[in-house]
Amino acid sequence: MIRENLLQTRQNIENACRKAGRNIGEVELIAVSKTKPVSMLQEAYENGVRDFGENRVQELVDKYETLPKDIRWHMIGHLQRNKVKYLIGKVHLIHSVDSLRLAQEIQKEAEKRQVQVNILVEVNVAGEESKFGGSLEETLQLVQEIALLPSVHIQGLMTVAPYVQDSEENRRIFANLKQLAVDIERKNIDNVNMNVLSMGMSGDYQVAVEEGATYVRVGTGIFGDRTV
Ligand SMILES: *Cc1c(COP(=O)(O)O)cnc(C)c1O
Repeated sequence: MIRENLLQTRQNIENACRKAGRNIGEVELIAVSKTKPVSMLQEAYENGVRDFGENRVQELVDKYETLPKDIRWHMIGHLQRNKVKYLIGKVHLIHSVDSLRLAQEIQKEAEKRQVQVNILVEVNVAGEESKFGGSLEETLQLVQEIALLPSVHIQGLMTVAPYVQDSEENRRIFANLKQLAVDIERKNIDNVNMNVLSMGMSGDYQVAVEEGATYVRVGTGIFGDRTV
């Protein structure tokens, strides 16, 4: 089932790229494996997946210890400052940096271990109460502040779009995130890249790709429904 789902997902991404006139090489698929057993990740791995997304630190670390070391682990869930120390050195990209205090904690741990950490700044584009991330308006200032931390490197932006029945409803959300990235890029801030846009989940990733996503985060579409 995972194999077929992966083929279908990759085909859908390719179709969306073609529709938008984008190069397929610009978009990477993150298999969101939260709550799923290692055996299912193994199957995805055997079918070529090297990017996995998790939303809990403990679970990410446990799976990191068990699975092959060429996997790139993505932290996509809300991150508490007291958990940062467990992640550093294991995670490829932290997608969910939503405050200066969290970025400062990442800086502190990165410095201790003498590593560089790549992050994305999470933006709550739709302004939903239940979601993390600053508003479109607040993000530039947060980016400017985080840019001053020498071991923390902003690679782009991330958003979790609202849950909608019709993915077209999220097109404007994705377009707004893309526009914000373009605006920030134009400011040429030292230590800031806007190459990465992490947006789109199982219900709406094709639309996100059409609007410029470079990472899509697909869980249910690959591994099936989550029961927990
Ligand atoms: C769970 C999760 C996903 C994947 O959601 P699906 O709808 O199962 O594809 C993507 N991004 C984040 C931040 C998540 O927490």
